[in-house]
Amino acid sequence: MCGIFGIFNYKDATNIAYLGLHALQHRGQESAGIASTDGDSVMRFHRQMGLVSDIFNEEVLKHLKGNSAIGHVRYSTAGSSNINNAQPLVVEYSKGHIAVAHNGNLTNAKIIKDELEKYGSIFQSSTDTEVIIHLVALSHENSTLDRLISALRRVEGSYSLLVLTDRELIAMRDPYGFRPLVLGMLKDSYVVSSETCAFDLIEAEYLREVEPGEIIHITQDGIKSYAPFKKVNRKHCIFEYIYFARPDSFMFGETVYTVRKALGRQLAQDTFVEADMVIPIPDSGISAAIGYSQEANIPFELGLIRNHYVGRTFIEPKESIRHFGVKLKLNAVHDVVKGKRIVVIDDSIVRATTGRKIIKMLRQYGAKEVHFRVSSPPTQYPCFYGIDTPSRGELIASSHTSEEINQYMGSDTLQYLSIEGMKKAVKNGDYTYCDACFTGAYPSKFPWNMQLEQMELFVKR
Ligand code: AMP
Repeated sequence: MCGIFGIFNYKDATNIAYLGLHALQHRGQESAGIASTDGDSVMRFHRQMGLVSDIFNEEVLKHLKGNSAIGHVRYSTAGSSNINNAQPLVVEYSKGHIAVAHNGNLTNAKIIKDELEKYGSIFQSSTDTEVIIHLVALSHENSTLDRLISALRRVEGSYSLLVLTDRELIAMRDPYGFRPLVLGMLKDSYVVSSETCAFDLIEAEYLREVEPGEIIHITQDGIKSYAPFKKVNRKHCIFEYIYFARPDSFMFGETVYTVRKALGRQLAQDTFVEADMVIPIPDSGISAAIGYSQEANIPFELGLIRNHYVGRTFIEPKESIRHFGVKLKLNAVHDVVKGKRIVVIDDSIVRATTGRKIIKMLRQYGAKEVHFRVSSPPTQYPCFYGIDTPSRGELIASSHTSEEINQYMGSDTLQYLSIEGMKKAVKNGDYTYCDACFTGAYPSKFPWNMQLEQMELFVKR
């Protein structure tokens, strides 16, 4: 998962990109970067491991002069967590500079990479994104736009992509529209972002989504839209709604908060249990817990308090840190939970380590009953389109029944939202979303051995 942001022809481009990345920080906390140009054939860039606010200070931003910029926040789903893989990737080739910021995963990257290496290509990173740069450089087309189109015809999987050259900003989204990408306007300049929450911060006007399969070409002459790829049914990632996106973002036609609340309401309708209070696992369970509480008419309480100075647990790539993280992050409020029958709401269960520790803590603090409710179906299948759930073995629901997970976590009862319930809670739920992590129905077909090969790219080195 990653966040991307771009701005074309604006006097404070780099500062705006910095703010944009700040708003997108939840989409990736391993590294961040900005590339900028003022069309003078110099592309400046700065990339570093860490958080946006730690990486960019006044001095760095001053160095990144330019009236156009793209930025990226990263958390690795393909390639390891190191500075070589931080984005935007920036190269200079026969046609000039090109900077690329990518959110998504190319499912045939490994195959293309092997092929290119056979013919002498030298890769600088282990990201799938670099494949696009090589294909652009090798293309026989003239313009960057045509080179990109020919490159993208070769790749499969998910991409929301920003490309900055000395003269243009190009924004594009794969034909399924897996990952979000929106277009806005700041005064007279175009801005592009993974999520609208970045537009709110910089006070840009939201215009529309970049459509699935659309390429938007922004130059001094204005904006042009192209749709060069075969049309397919859109497949937005439903997990953006469930967990990943910020609740204040407007995405795929609805506000994320509203959808999360609807998921919680549906969950209450389908899995009601008598209780004294509903408590969320913060922050990800909050919106769904409000929905559950309102629908079930059970009071909402903040029974768990989050320490905001620790990153998202799951996001840390090392197992040891992940385990530790749960304790670092959350504590229960003794007075609130003591002697109570509690419904605990979380948005999803991955390995069940969070739930297990929280339930143990709630019991230690005197909770009478703990009923765990999840505002999504069991996560059983790995995502190959950009969410960091790479192997089936790590997903507890892929090998255990709900009753087994209930026993493992130590809850009195455990119930998930059903797939039908989830589809009811979102607009056009039957056909607009990729729900492969719950159903195994991957929209783009690739043979299993290819998945295994692709997994090599996912291995964190
Ligand atoms: P676990 O303890 O492994 O079951 O993780 C469950 C927690 O991880 C839930 O609170 C989710 O909000 C969160 N989560 C689910 N999927 C992801 C993901 N891909 N990246 C980061 N966190 C996630």
